[in-house]
Amino acid sequence: MPDIIQLLPDNVANQIAAGEVVQRPASAVKELMENAIDAGADTVKVIIKDAGKSLIQVIDNGSGMSDTDARMSFERHATSKIRKTEDLFHIVTKGFRGEALASIAAVAQVEVKTRLRGASLGTRLTIEGSRVQSQEPDGCAEGTNFMVRNLFFNVPARRYFLKSDGIEFRHIVDEFQRVALTHPGVEFNLLHNGSEVFSLPKTTLRQRIVHVFGSRYNEKLVPVEEQTDIVTVTGFVGKPDTSKKTRGDQFFFINDRFIRNTYLHHAVASAFEGLVPAGHHPLYLLYFSIDPAQIDVNIHPTKTEVKFQDERAVYAILHAAVKRALGRHNIAPTLDFDQEAAMQVSPVHSGITVKPPEIRINRDFNPFESRPAQRSEGVKEWFEQRERTTSDGWQSLHQIQKDLDQIEVRAPQPSRQSLPELADDASYIQLERRYIVTPSSNGLVLIDQQRAHERVLFEQYRRQMQKGEGTSQQVLFPEQVQLPVAEWAILQERQHEMAALGFDLEFIGSGEVEVRGIPPEVPASDACGLITQLANMLSEDTGEIADELHDRMAWSLARGSSIKYGQLLTVPEMKELAARLAACDEPWFAGNRKPVLITLQQSFIERQFA
Ligand code: ADP
Ligand code: MG
Repeated sequence: MPDIIQLLPDNVANQIAAGEVVQRPASAVKELMENAIDAGADTVKVIIKDAGKSLIQVIDNGSGMSDTDARMSFERHATSKIRKTEDLFHIVTKGFRGEALASIAAVAQVEVKTRLRGASLGTRLTIEGSRVQSQEPDGCAEGTNFMVRNLFFNVPARRYFLKSDGIEFRHIVDEFQRVALTHPGVEFNLLHNGSEVFSLPKTTLRQRIVHVFGSRYNEKLVPVEEQTDIVTVTGFVGKPDTSKKTRGDQFFFINDRFIRNTYLHHAVASAFEGLVPAGHHPLYLLYFSIDPAQIDVNIHPTKTEVKFQDERAVYAILHAAVKRALGRHNIAPTLDFDQEAAMQVSPVHSGITVKPPEIRINRDFNPFESRPAQRSEGVKEWFEQRERTTSDGWQSLHQIQKDLDQIEVRAPQPSRQSLPELADDASYIQLERRYIVTPSSNGLVLIDQQRAHERVLFEQYRRQMQKGEGTSQQVLFPEQVQLPVAEWAILQERQHEMAALGFDLEFIGSGEVEVRGIPPEVPASDACGLITQLANMLSEDTGEIADELHDRMAWSLARGSSIKYGQLLTVPEMKELAARLAACDEPWFAGNRKPVLITLQQSFIERQFA
């Protein structure tokens, strides 16, 4: 049998490697920006077209390359950053694998113009699908200018699986920010489809963070600083009120390299325990500097995983550093040491006998037991209790609803026919500024005012988005909203959807938005808050399709602009809300699938009087 094993041709090998290194346009942006930093640049300009699908350009004023190096840089495992195995343990540059350019050139059309500092002439080289097309002398500027066009032009499947421009651009912004946040001494610019998204001058770290996230963060940053023999931790944590439900504003950098680490995240999160609501994540940007020999950055080609030699020590140091920083700013007491001391005091000396804690267990409890008998008792109890509380004006309505949940009166069905018919001249009363009560053809209907209005608005906004147009009410005095620049950029991508919701927005730049028009049902005082909320929501990358995203936007706005509990409604308002609810496609349920209305059937009422 003849030998059948062959070495893969370079272009094939490169394309395979590219699968790991270049997953999406953002990966190329990251690699090119890191190369610029490694080359000692102090200005880096990133120009993107169509979320990087048609163009990714990175221009730096770094060292530049010679003609031969420019050619060599596209070879696989070609690097100027390490030479021998030992160097792997002392990596101070971002790159070291020598794979990035070879990978990018395998799956795109690349042009590079580069000139060494002080050289009289530079070189221009084009390469496409790993094949060099041309190289000639060029009178370009000092430094390097990479243009990557039509990424994945020769890998249709990859191109097909790229997400929408909005999502791909979000990834680019993420990578851009990570590099920008580690190099405040470097000037960065980001342009997308001709408009400036970031313009970050050289500055201090604190100012850089403020430029990236918006000026409202200026007051909100608490410095963290901890020096130990193992590691130095510096950076900032946000005050508790900057915490958000969504993750994304949490950054760890090790030796200026962005990393993810859930274990260390826990160290920070637990230092915030009790200060932020459950499920909220505090903002933080924490920078570790550590001897490169103490870590291994070599785990993954995209290098966001890093292994520490002594992770537990780093955890403890980090936790203490954050706690201390919060304590120093009077945000949380740092009583850890005192507490330990207190625990050593023997109870005998204090003169009080301390009872050991006890746990009571109901050994007869069986969670699987069904209790139908108790349930009907529940109804009886409810009526008895109602008797007692009627004078208080239905104080226990919460309890009533809970009880009703358990009995068969409610049963909302998701079918249109079963919606109770409300007479034109029906009377309406409002209970506890929370529920609307009205008689129907066969009983009594209780409508949750907030959920009902949410449902009505949601369907209205969704229709507007489907049609691509909505009414907007011009405001007399346009207000400005300041957003984190990344969210601002994403909101700008969704400008037409915002317009369909009724927002007329002017994108000024550097995170600023001017609000010129708002949906008619939104109070002017709420508009800025709602826009901030929508921008924040949009910046979550859930990878959903457009329809789902539109639904989410519509819910978010509906929830934000609906009538709230506690709001007094007039009879005509209640009547109108009930009529609009009846005209909904799915009147029974609110966004969280919770019921909007319940009915007390006449037969049920009669039974109670029997
Ligand atoms: P790595 O960064 O891991 O060394 P790359 O493929 O990213 O590998 O780059 C290969 C080499 O090309 C680098 O080692 C560097 O010498 C050179 N290079 C890449 N980008 C630049 C740049 N912007 N300026 C100067 N030299 C560069
Ligand atoms: Mg590199």
